Parts: sequence; C-alpha cells; structure tokens
Amino acid sequence: MEKEAILGERLPGDRVRCHVCQWRCLINPGKTGVCRMYINRDGKLYSMNYGEVSSVAPDPVEKKPLFHFFPATRVLSLGTWGCNFHCQDCQNWEISCVDIPTTSQYLSPEQEIELAKRYNCSGVAWTYNEPTIWFEYTLDSAKLAKQNGLYTVYVTNGYATSEALDTIGPYLDAWRVDVKGFTDGFYRRLAKISHWRGILEVAKRAKEKWDMHVEVVTNIIPTMNDDEEQLRGIATWIRDNLGELTPWHVTRFHPMYNLTRLPATPVSTLERAWRAGKEAGLKFVYLGNVPGHEKENTVCYYCANLNVRRIGYDTEVIGLDDSKCRFCGAELNFRTTLKPISGPPTEKELHPIAKLARETVESYVREGKKPPPVELTPEMSERAGVFVSIHKHGELRGCIGTFEPVQANVAEEIIANAISSSTRDPRFPPVTEEELDDLEYKVDILSRPEPVKDVSELDPKKYGVIVESGFRRGLLLPDLEGVDSVEEQIAICRLKAGIGRNEPVDLYRFEVRRFK
Ligand code: SF4
Repeated sequence: MEKEAILGERLPGDRVRCHVCQWRCLINPGKTGVCRMYINRDGKLYSMNYGEVSSVAPDPVEKKPLFHFFPATRVLSLGTWGCNFHCQDCQNWEISCVDIPTTSQYLSPEQEIELAKRYNCSGVAWTYNEPTIWFEYTLDSAKLAKQNGLYTVYVTNGYATSEALDTIGPYLDAWRVDVKGFTDGFYRRLAKISHWRGILEVAKRAKEKWDMHVEVVTNIIPTMNDDEEQLRGIATWIRDNLGELTPWHVTRFHPMYNLTRLPATPVSTLERAWRAGKEAGLKFVYLGNVPGHEKENTVCYYCANLNVRRIGYDTEVIGLDDSKCRFCGAELNFRTTLKPISGPPTEKELHPIAKLARETVESYVREGKKPPPVELTPEMSERAGVFVSIHKHGELRGCIGTFEPVQANVAEEIIANAISSSTRDPRFPPVTEEELDDLEYKVDILSRPEPVKDVSELDPKKYGVIVESGFRRGLLLPDLEGVDSVEEQIAICRLKAGIGRNEPVDLYRFEVRRFK
C-alpha cells in the first residue's frame, strides 16, 4: 500500500529529496530512490511498501541478536521488501534485493500488534531487511506497540538520518546496529557506501539523545574485515562512544549471495576478534553463529559468576537482578523495563520563556503578527542580550540573537529574536506553517560579556565567546553539541565575523541561562 512520506522535501521542477536515510536520494517525477521503496508521484514522495510484509515470525530476542535486552523473551519480527544497502554478504537477499511481489501480504499496524499479543511476544522488531525503508509503517507500528506495553526494536544497518531517528526516537527502545567494518575501502567494497561514519554518529545519538539500548554487531568476513586495524577500530569506537558495557557481537560469516567464493569464518578468527574487544576494554563481547561456544554466555566482569547461559537461542537467566549482577551488584547494562515515550517537551513542560518564543513564531508565521502580551516573569522583566534557537528533528532550523539588550526588556528581546530566527536567518528558508508542530525552541539569556586576557579563562561548556576585531564581532553560545574545545569556539567565531585566522583579536566571555 502507498502512503505519503513524512520526510520528503519538495523541490523545484517537481523533484523531491528523501531524508529517510543518509543516501538522501534526489528523485525525479515517476522515479524511485536507491531502495526502490520511495517514489516521486507528481512532486510528492510516497512510501510504496506501507504494511507490505515479506516475513513475520515470533523469534527469541537473542536471535536479533540482543543479549542484554529483555533476555529470554519472544519478539514479533517483521521484514518488508527491498533495502537501501546491497551488501555482498546479504543473508536475506531473497527479500532485500527484489521489488514488491504481487503475492506480498498487507498487515496493518493494528493487526501487527494483535499478532504480537497472540504469539505471546513482549515486543516487536523490524528486522530481516533495513527498517528505515518502510519508515512510516514502523513509526505508526512503534507508537501503537508502545501504547500496548510492548517493547520496540530496530535491527538496522544504521544508515538512517538524524531526522528519521529523531522522529521515531520517542517510540524506540532498542537500536541493534551493524558496524560492518571500519575503513572506507571495506564499506565501499561491501555495500558501495562512502559516508559510513554517519552510521556511528546516529548510533551515538540513539543512545545519548533517545536513551535507547544499543548493541553492535560485526559479521566477520575472512580477508575483508578480519584485520586487527578494523577490529580494534570498532572496539575502541564502541568503548569511547557507547560505553564499555555495550555488548559487541562478532558473528560468523557463512558463504552467501555474492561471496560464496570465501570460506566460513574460522572460529579462531572470531576468538581473535573477541580478544581485540576485551583488550580495548569492552566488558561484553559475544561470539555469534557458533552455538554452544562458551563466549555466548554473560559472565560478570567483576565477580566472574555466570549471569546468563546461552546455547544457540536457548537462554537461561541465572544471576541477574534487573540490570545488575545478582552475586556482586555490578552494573551489567541489561534493559528489562520499557523506556517511557519521550519527545519534545509538552505544553506543560515548556518553560514560560521558551513558550513565549514558540507562541511568537506560531503567531507570526500563521498570522503575520506578534503574540498577545504575556504576564512577565522576573527573568522577562530584566534587560539582557537574548538568543533564540529553533531546531527541527534535532537539526538547527534558525538561530538569531542580540549580544547586548536593544529592547525594553527580555520579553521584547525574545519576541524580536524569535521572529528573526524563524524568518530572517540567512542560512535557512523562512519557517512554514506545516513545520510548526515539529519545532523545538531554546532561549539563552546572556550575562554581560567580560574581557578575557588568556584562553585559559575560557571553557566551552561553561562560557560563550565573543571574538572582536574593530567593528567585526563573532559570538558562539556555550555548551553546543560538537564544539568541545576553546580553539574550536574561537575558530567558529572568527569565521562568523570574517576575521582571519592570524588577525589579532579581543576576547570576551559570557554565561547563559538556558530555557527550553
Ligand atoms: S530511504 Fe530509499 S529513497 Fe529514501 S534516501 Fe534512503 S535509499 Fe533513498
């Protein structure tokens, strides 16, 4: 069944851009994207496989594999047709490398949840092929699953955009992601993917921003990704970005699809990968597709007692106390409770200062006028510089402000800057009425800037920076995602102000009170 896509961007000439996955396909009228599941119909993007199920089965959750997530439960697992990757080692090529057949069965989200209950499943997983390629269906299903007390899982190649992640983030409990290798050459050879590092960023975001339980899988393919450099690269990245308690599954490759010329992975190679993970400091590295191997079990890293015994998909929980070791109390990173539905702050949760920014934008975009006067809180009555930042699906959509006060009070400052951020930021088109429900607002009230003699007085998490040279001034707010050093702060300010790298400058610092 077809359904209009929610992450399609209309472009001149009836073209559309799909923002579901990191291909960001530019699609001409009548054509489809790389996955062949999104089509441009008269300048609008449509999902072609809404509810078109290729496979459905109640699986042990360990089969995904997820070892630290509701152990020994059953999960209703569903796949569709097509994929946005065409990996040489694909195990499910019969469903991932084809168009939708005429025999395809439609299953509504309601029927899906009914089925999950009938089969006594504790959750639903979109798996077998990439779940983002039927994004609208998985989103509707995830919302319904959560309402019915079921957990939700994406088994994914991780190539979703941050917009897609942020749209489904409130309703997803687990992100079981492949990190298939760790070099440009490998990802290109395996799946013709160049920008594979985006996968890492999105996985980190799934954990940090959306509190999802994350487990990583690497299928070890002889001669392709079994070298020390890649194994250590993956393990170190997991440790530094997802944490040492994140499970890493190193699974056995079997000759398949376009790689029948290669042998199955020797168990000794998997054991070498296991050692690379442990040496990097990971507490839980598991061998996969080697039923009966002792490295399928969970053993407490602190007291060495057995917590979970696994033989293939037979799982016996022996020594767990929620997420901790029953014997010594060590934290083992097991998820056994549902994540509450989370999302942008609701009306009630929004601070009155951020609410004023939102009401201003909504009133101005809808009716071209300022909002009615509000009762002034103490912060709104002061005079100060104010920045209003607007985000959409986690991405910046506008940010404009004043270094120092130019209005009668902070409330007036917010109103003026909210209008500018939404309609006059030269980096973005003006906000439209259709976008209003997807926007999030952040208001920074600035302290009076003070001169800085030495960069040692700066701290990117605590202080914003102003860089000044004559009449040119660049400002950067503190505590911004991706800005981790004073040097980066200053370089960005110079760029904003058009001040050369070697020109002498005066530096100022300020603090902010942030409201959202
Ligand atoms: S989901 Fe499909 S159409 Fe959309 S960007 Fe990815 S490959 Fe392209």
